[in-house]
Amino acid sequence: MHSLTDKIKFYESIFGRGRLASNGKNFDVRCPICAPLDASKKKLAIRTDNDANHCWVCGWKARSLVPLLKKFGSQEHVNLYREFTGQGISPTTADVEVVQKIELPKDFKLLTLASDLDPDVKAAWRYVYSRGLTDRDAWYYKFGVSDEPRWKRRVLMPSFDSQGELNYFVARAIDKDRKPKYDNPDVDKNPVVFNEINIDWKKRLVLVEGPFDMVKCPENSTALLGSDLDERHEILNKILLFNTPVALSLDGDMWNKKTPKIVKKLQEYNVDVVVVDVRPWGDPGNMSKAEFEKALLEAKPLEWFDVFNDRLKKATEISFRL
Ligand SMILES: [Zn+2]
Repeated sequence: MHSLTDKIKFYESIFGRGRLASNGKNFDVRCPICAPLDASKKKLAIRTDNDANHCWVCGWKARSLVPLLKKFGSQEHVNLYREFTGQGISPTTADVEVVQKIELPKDFKLLTLASDLDPDVKAAWRYVYSRGLTDRDAWYYKFGVSDEPRWKRRVLMPSFDSQGELNYFVARAIDKDRKPKYDNPDVDKNPVVFNEINIDWKKRLVLVEGPFDMVKCPENSTALLGSDLDERHEILNKILLFNTPVALSLDGDMWNKKTPKIVKKLQEYNVDVVVVDVRPWGDPGNMSKAEFEKALLEAKPLEWFDVFNDRLKKATEISFRL
């Protein structure tokens, strides 16, 4: 652990002179993004306990200092920061402990060990098999079931952080008309890296939307738990910290929406990114592992011209309909 003085020295080596806020928790420096001409205006607040930072003027927000170091510092700053903070960025686990305590339902049972005589368990297995998943997948991803009303007739999938601590779980309904399709614990998703325990940040990382897409992916992968990615997400901060190359594989209907947006965000930081086209299947969850592997082999950088053409085509179709 570093002392506050060490931390402040580090902050000032990057952002210049700052000052400790009256709450004793934040360190305020000049924001390099809105870069006020008056250098005495220190509107970027950095939380000294976990380095989360935000600017009161321009609205910038990030979970760690890595995005700012990438934009305004050098690779050396990033390397130094990696050493400084150890393997992680911010004390994520501590953060999670304070803000959100995640627990599996009290009666959580591994699907592989639950009684086959229970009709709900039988139905859960039928659902798992119908998605092209196997017994091995059920063991490997620790699929589970619960009888609590909120989680009943859902397949639960836990997630563990890099230390092996539970950091999240998702619960997929097995009945067609059940809403919501996915039910998740009521906590902030931004600090969560789904199944970080299995991630090698030095290798290419495949990003999909949901954990049930992730299980189709033979490679190093994680789920965004949605279709957004920016500086507030731990995943982006870790990608930047480790210079991790990315293969982005959002659902097909995001091809013209969120996919280009995330690619743009990653390119802003010179992250090496290719896109996986799953449009013929809808989403990775509908594909076999072999199909996904093939699509992954064919992944390529997003051509902005294609995006533009697709949009143009859509716009023409719409105006034609009118
Ligand atoms: Zn600012």
